[in-house]
Amino acid sequence: MDGDVRTDLAIVGGGFTGLSTALLAAEIGIDCRVPEAKKIGYGGSGQNVGLVNAGLWLPPQDVRGLLGDEAGSRLVRELGEAPSYVMSLIERHQIRCEATRTCTIHAAHAPAGYNDLARRAEEWQRLGAPADLLTRAQAAEKTGSEAVYGGLLDPRAGTINPMGYVRGLARAALSAGAVISTGVTALKLSREGDLWIVDTDRGRVTARWVVLGTNAYTDDLWPGLKRTFTIIHYFQAATKPLGDRGENILTERQGLCDTGRVMFSLRSDDSGRLIIGSMGRVIGGDTGLSRRWAMRNIRRLFPQLGEISFENFWHGRIAMTPDHLPRIHRLADNLYTPIGYNGRGITPGTIFGRAMAEFLSGGTEEDLPLPVSDMKVDSGAPLKSRFYDAAFTANQIAKSF
Ligand SMILES: Cc1cc2nc3c(=O)[nH]c(=O)nc-3n(C[C@H](O)[C@H](O)[C@H](O)COP(=O)(O)OP(=O)(O)OC[C@H]3O[C@@H](n4cnc5c(N)ncnc54)[C@H](O)[C@@H]3O)c2cc1C
Repeated sequence: MDGDVRTDLAIVGGGFTGLSTALLAAEIGIDCRVPEAKKIGYGGSGQNVGLVNAGLWLPPQDVRGLLGDEAGSRLVRELGEAPSYVMSLIERHQIRCEATRTCTIHAAHAPAGYNDLARRAEEWQRLGAPADLLTRAQAAEKTGSEAVYGGLLDPRAGTINPMGYVRGLARAALSAGAVISTGVTALKLSREGDLWIVDTDRGRVTARWVVLGTNAYTDDLWPGLKRTFTIIHYFQAATKPLGDRGENILTERQGLCDTGRVMFSLRSDDSGRLIIGSMGRVIGGDTGLSRRWAMRNIRRLFPQLGEISFENFWHGRIAMTPDHLPRIHRLADNLYTPIGYNGRGITPGTIFGRAMAEFLSGGTEEDLPLPVSDMKVDSGAPLKSRFYDAAFTANQIAKSF
């Protein structure tokens, strides 16, 4: 992007939300532009674990409790169907992202975690969704680890390489006619008549509508927005391919996360790497604390593996809302942001993006998957972010030795 341009829809941010909005908008015939400050997948979308979940982190009954029966049930239903939509996009656009549809496992970190999973399973089954409780022995067979105390198997869910998926969405949106500009930061939003002016560091975009897809990477573009959620970091480590040594581990390629208060996650990729992660930042990289943490936890889960080498460490930001529900905020006339995915953004980001495009092409706010809300600044958010940062660092230190 160089110079001033005019478009129907300006979408800030090149992650799942922005690019899913762009893909559907372009397919519908809405002219759209996506300025992305860094590169495609720079935010949570590229740093992700890759669990394509069929629902939020909150169990369905809690979602209904917070949103009310009608809106809650609708969101639960739409998110339950969302993995199929993600997989259909992958298929339709031939996105190379190592997609698997062999379920995910919510693993019990302790006997108490199993009780929580039983409650979730009962509710999903009541809603007619497939959700199978695994005994400890069944979970051990699927994961290859005796350290898992049972699990909840969700046949609707699967895994992806998230960077592959987000790049594939960008390619599909480009082919459909969206214009995506990386290395372009939106600096200011202002109104001129009934149009929005998005001033960037590479020129001005004039648009009828604006969608912000900036989630946990939100900056000061819209005053106060970055203080509507708490930032939590999540880090991951990828081993070198395990070869034959990995043959009894995650044999059906399920990805998993656990029920622990400080959650951990595990996935394997097409090349036989294990990707393990938890809350907090990378500390010290491949020679430091995070390496020790990863080594110790892989040994705890798979003592049979012996010495392991790591290839890569990284972390990203999660936007945690006070009630753990995502939001679609109307910030002003014709200016919206789906935001606050609480660490579950592959399916919500994709379907909220689709819904934004459908809405802008003549739908109503009532058709959106979530009731539209005004943003609410949480003045304590920066302090809470610092608190969690310190707590997860302390936890990483404690779990590394
Ligand atoms: C480590 C990690 C693991 C996760 N694991 C999972 C998982 O397994 N399953 C799951 O469903 N979810 C997971 N999540 C959550 C999920 O990744 C996010 O919810 C999702 O990526 C949010 O997508 P997004 O498009 O809304 O925002 P992002 O992908 O964060 O993209 C925001 C983009 O906006 C850009 N931006 C910000 N400000 C500006 C500006 N002023 N101008 C231009 N561009 C701007 C940023 O550069 C960034 O690229 C995980 C998150 C993290 C961090």
